[in-house]
Amino acid sequence: MELEKRNSSKRCRGRTVTACLECRKMKKKCDRQWPCNHCKSRKVAHMCQFSQATRKHQRLGLNETQTRAPKETPSIASSTSVSESQDDASNSTSSASAVHMLGYMFAKNDTLFGSIMETQYVESTEPLPEPIVQASRAVSPRPYTDMLLKNFFDNVNYHYGILHQPSFMAVYVEWWSQRRDAQSLRNPLALALTCLILRICANSTQFLSPQASSQLELDLGDSIQNLSKAYHDAAQTISSFLSPGTGGLLNAQQLFLAATWHKGQADFVRSWHELGAAVRQAQEIGIHTDAFSDELNEFDLEIRRRLWCALYTWDRYMTGSFNRPPIIQSEISVPLPNPGLDQAGADPDVPSYIVAKTLECQLAKELGEGDRVDRSNLQSKIAFVENWMLSLPSVFNIINPDKRWDDDYPHIPFQRLQLHCVGYMTQLMFARSILTSFQLFSTTTHVGTGLDSETTLLIQQVVDLSLKAMSVSKDTFDFCFPQKAKYYMVAFCPFDNAALLCSLLIHDADGTMIPRRSEVIYAIGQALHISQRLRGFTKMGDFTWSILSALKNRANLFPLEKALLEELESVGKTDITTESLNHSLEPSDDVFHSINESSNQLHSESDEGLQFVENTLAVDDPDFLEMDLGILDGVWNWERVGF
Ligand SMILES: [Zn+2]
Ligand SMILES: [Zn+2]
Repeated sequence: MELEKRNSSKRCRGRTVTACLECRKMKKKCDRQWPCNHCKSRKVAHMCQFSQATRKHQRLGLNETQTRAPKETPSIASSTSVSESQDDASNSTSSASAVHMLGYMFAKNDTLFGSIMETQYVESTEPLPEPIVQASRAVSPRPYTDMLLKNFFDNVNYHYGILHQPSFMAVYVEWWSQRRDAQSLRNPLALALTCLILRICANSTQFLSPQASSQLELDLGDSIQNLSKAYHDAAQTISSFLSPGTGGLLNAQQLFLAATWHKGQADFVRSWHELGAAVRQAQEIGIHTDAFSDELNEFDLEIRRRLWCALYTWDRYMTGSFNRPPIIQSEISVPLPNPGLDQAGADPDVPSYIVAKTLECQLAKELGEGDRVDRSNLQSKIAFVENWMLSLPSVFNIINPDKRWDDDYPHIPFQRLQLHCVGYMTQLMFARSILTSFQLFSTTTHVGTGLDSETTLLIQQVVDLSLKAMSVSKDTFDFCFPQKAKYYMVAFCPFDNAALLCSLLIHDADGTMIPRRSEVIYAIGQALHISQRLRGFTKMGDFTWSILSALKNRANLFPLEKALLEELESVGKTDITTESLNHSLEPSDDVFHSINESSNQLHSESDEGLQFVENTLAVDDPDFLEMDLGILDGVWNWERVGF
């Protein structure tokens, strides 16, 4: 009922709009779209607004577009987490926070509490907690922070697309002008903004160019890992003082960036928990309802949708890939973000970084709301993803993409690889879940002959998809290494695919079960090569390398294949050219010979012919299955690849 009311007022509003405020002021003809033609051409799309949103946070000077939340926030000093002495029901607790603390979700038109929730910001005279003051000082001097922010918007933000650069930069400049006034941190919005700036710095240091890294290390006198950790720790401290529901959208954004930072550190479990915190904060301020109110303007709503799009997509993939329970249970469908906001400054034909995010979200929606995959719907699910891939816009096309902007807009080639990878990995996710449920994987010895046709076809399909995914993974590695090596896909996708392919080889007792066998061996070699390169560089590299090495040693291989794998892996230590790798990537029967002449010699020396190399350990060796998965523990399991 509540929802219907909101939606209808939104529709009414949509029909009755006149020109936007900017156009009215300048007496221009407005096309009444958001953002409108004039605001876009004047490059102020984020200022385009059709109603006068109320402004309550002028004192801080924070741009309301970044800070506005339907829930007005009580002062820090009166919120629960700042001081333990709240238990004695001190009278500084506002009625709004009291209602909130009882567990009621904010609802503006709530018949019981709506009017109480509309409270004003409360001044407090209590001293600011020392940890807050300390942590806020962790922001580096302006030139370095400026550099880190620029790097974030140039190289990191488009991974998820939750922040809007022009409006954020305006808030950021304002933040510096008030920085000396520690009392401004009493405002939860200012506190959340300080936290968000620290999160941006922490994320940015994960993706610096080698040159920028060494410059920063030299100037600030610490390693880049320590700097990143210091920003993160300071942000954690501040975050712990922001009680749920306070700090508005900024608080939800900073929690999201805490999750992405952990992901960059390859800590998937912590990352998932922070994702949960970000979702809860977003729900606490009503983002999931997408309700329009007179306190939000069109821009606010758009930025909230962008965060929701990222949260939703990520949540659905964690559910689909790692069997985690969904965090978002909401049935309400929040509209997808509007790329029109970003096209202001650039060539109007260049796709906004948000286009790829909406495409991923569409795919995630299908995964999240469709039926569970089973044998009867598997092929239609794979076909759905296939169609999604085939209908990607020309710049992201799977065949002959339009690459004319690749050099000037690095988000385009990156997101193209990201979309292709997500597509293949999603198809694989469906196919492998059926394959690993087959009897085939329940014991250790299998004979390739005698498999039923359904199993044979499914194995073929899994191998085909996995080889495609490996090919994209290799391109992704080449594109991202070294600056973007911490992006989780770079290490995870080749590893996950190679583990699956190794599992197939291990279960292939007589060497007849796996189609395209030489390509499979080569793909595993590439994954080993990638993890070898990442080893010592990222934590993911260390772990994926040790697991893959163990798997490789257990696969049933012909001597020639074993020699080839060794060679491929060691080639990673020297400088293999992209060219030669790409060349040998081409599916061809003589891939062995084209890659590696020396393995032919090895082959002629050994007279074993087609005899398998003996496995040193059985697959069901308990030590093997109890191998330390380290950082992958909790998200990755052996069942996933059929052990
Ligand atoms: Zn207008
Ligand atoms: Zn406008």
